Amino acid sequence: MSTTATAGRVRQSGGTATMAGAAVNRYDTVAWITCVFMVLFHIGAVMALLDFTWSGLVVLLVTYYISLVFGIGMSYHRLLTHRSYKTSKAMEYFVTVCATLSLEGGPLFWVATHRRHHQHSDADLDPHTPRHGGLWAHMGWILFGHSEHNEVNITSKYAPDLGRDPVHVWLSRYHWLPLTLLGLVLYAFGGWNWVLWGVFLRTTIGLHATWLVNSATHMWGSRRFDTRDDSRNNWWVALLTFGEGWHNNHHAHPASAAHGLAWYELDVTYLHIRLFEKLGLIWDVRRVSVDGKVQRAA
Ligand SMILES: [Zn+2]
Ligand SMILES: [Zn+2]
Repeated sequence: MSTTATAGRVRQSGGTATMAGAAVNRYDTVAWITCVFMVLFHIGAVMALLDFTWSGLVVLLVTYYISLVFGIGMSYHRLLTHRSYKTSKAMEYFVTVCATLSLEGGPLFWVATHRRHHQHSDADLDPHTPRHGGLWAHMGWILFGHSEHNEVNITSKYAPDLGRDPVHVWLSRYHWLPLTLLGLVLYAFGGWNWVLWGVFLRTTIGLHATWLVNSATHMWGSRRFDTRDDSRNNWWVALLTFGEGWHNNHHAHPASAAHGLAWYELDVTYLHIRLFEKLGLIWDVRRVSVDGKVQRAA
């Protein structure tokens, strides 16, 4: 009996040691294709900054807004991952195409990774926890290691619902296509400058903003709810990501369509969900009542 228990403990701690000790293991594999694209996009971002135009800035702001509010916030995160509201398939596919413009992978990968993050928040199986290093949580997990990018086992385990939808499967395979088409359209109307600002610089800023939700909001900010993870509410990440920075609220109430739960917690994505609800394009919005229940962790 005691031998079995000991063996179990040894096996368990051995597994943990392998995962956590793993500075070596975590960085032992390089995702070369991702690295090449990330370097290219960062070079393009610097080139954009050296070639400022007002029209380029407007293109950047519009595409940033569309890809993060409609895309990451309304589609990948609050609709596809957490199903915090209902909408038509047409609307679902539209906002998902907007999400692919952020170059954060297709819906199957994004949703599976994020559901895994919620299930194992700040534990060993969390794909991106600052407990394995702040830089790892920010972008290391994308560039190195076995981040299960398109591993069928992971996506079929964590996103079987999307795996049954041929449109989401197709979009996951060709997630780079809408961004490429956007680049061609921008080139046709505004030349190389618009491509630099609307694709390269905008995508790079959007990526870092989203990555801050994985890194900064698990390290810096306040904790209203005493969740079992390290999640925090961070106002400047919320500003950069249109509401995704109220991350402690979100971990406490993952199904809530609103991440900002107080009047002073600006959540632009939720304001859009409410607007589309009023227009009849979105319904069954899941809300949490926090009146009198809002509590600050000790
Ligand atoms: Zn989190
Ligand atoms: Zn979430």
